[in-house]
Amino acid sequence: MPDYDLVIRGSRVITGAGQVACCVGVRDGAVAAIAPRGAALAGTRIVELADDEVLIPGLVDTHVHVNEPGRTQWEGFETATRAAAAGGITTIVDMPLNSIPPTCTVEALQVKRQAACGKAHVDVGFWGGAIPGNLNDLRELHDAGVFGFKCFTSPSGVEEFPPLTYRQVEEYLSVLRSCGAAMIVHAEDAAVIDGAPPARGARYADFLASRPRCAENVAIARLIEAARNTAATVHVLHLSSSDAIPMLRTARRDGITMTVETCPHYLVFEAQGIADGATPFKCCPPIREADNRERLWNGLAAGDIDCIVSDHSPCTGELKRLDTGDFGAAWGGISSLQISLPAVWTEARERGHSLADVVHWMARRPAQIGGLRRKGQITQGFHADFAVFAPDDTFVVDPARLRHRHPITPYARRPLAGVVRSTWLRGRQVTGTEPHGQLIRRGEA
Ligand SMILES: [Zn+2]
Repeated sequence: MPDYDLVIRGSRVITGAGQVACCVGVRDGAVAAIAPRGAALAGTRIVELADDEVLIPGLVDTHVHVNEPGRTQWEGFETATRAAAAGGITTIVDMPLNSIPPTCTVEALQVKRQAACGKAHVDVGFWGGAIPGNLNDLRELHDAGVFGFKCFTSPSGVEEFPPLTYRQVEEYLSVLRSCGAAMIVHAEDAAVIDGAPPARGARYADFLASRPRCAENVAIARLIEAARNTAATVHVLHLSSSDAIPMLRTARRDGITMTVETCPHYLVFEAQGIADGATPFKCCPPIREADNRERLWNGLAAGDIDCIVSDHSPCTGELKRLDTGDFGAAWGGISSLQISLPAVWTEARERGHSLADVVHWMARRPAQIGGLRRKGQITQGFHADFAVFAPDDTFVVDPARLRHRHPITPYARRPLAGVVRSTWLRGRQVTGTEPHGQLIRRGEA
């Protein structure tokens, strides 16, 4: 019997200790050895990477709206996890809302797990929801294995998932602090949005004016105080306003436990380039100006922004109002799961960042923030989750060839660098036919 189930040999492997030429030995779904490239590791299956291929850890996307059950016509576990695998993502953590029921009780979590059962082509975890009235459900949900709790500080877009007031946020944070759980927050201030001109019509500039940077800045300032007062852990979701970076940096310097993510669309697109009526670009908070985008990149480079996750939040073409192009009426959410790696890599490389930087932002850090202790790195003892990536290969995004349920994405027809040639989950290649992803619980993966 060979020592390993799988041996992958390559001239460029991004391991936990940096990029090296090596061979990786896999046993029982985990990385069992990292040896020099010439080492004669014996494996049941041997894979030799081509000269243009890099072995990277499977990406960890902690911000995905799968929407099943309840709004399965928008997406679903089968399609979302297939798209993830095609994009080199081996773990997703599903958001508690847009599915019905939202994941705000243990019963709802069970309904979700049932819906996902047998359909996951990658590993799937679940966030819990924090809404008015479920304070007493948090501990039980935490014990049932959710990765933390999501709340909004402004209306979420669906009525079954109302926002918390800042006073409630603090109250909920105190409970989460005692459980050792993190709160992840959609941070836009409801009063600022109410005071801004309403979103209506097909002009992108009008939509942008309806969700100013100030809405994020105010909400984040309030969250910093809530985290300071409770000593709880707070994670800011989908940061778009670069104005908030200095205060987050100061808060962290003061020892407040806060982390921050941003998303590919804020790093790729710019408001000035979005055509009127182009509602596939609508998301909340919105895509902002080019100078704002560059400050987000600087924030990543400086370590002020921790990670990049997709916030994949698709819907049907009707709900995107593709016919009228009305930004006020269209559903806000960007569909991008399968292309987040090449989208980020294309822009990162132009700004002088390495593929190891991208892996840090899209695999290692989201795994650490999500508490996934054996994911996000090619390191001995970690899960053998990999993507074989050809960074210099290029393609043009054809929405019809994406595995998302709906062929709608703002990346349509965009040329991108970086092709995912294969994806491996716990040492097995993901083919998209037979699902072998697992439904994972906090602390178990
Ligand atoms: Zn989201």
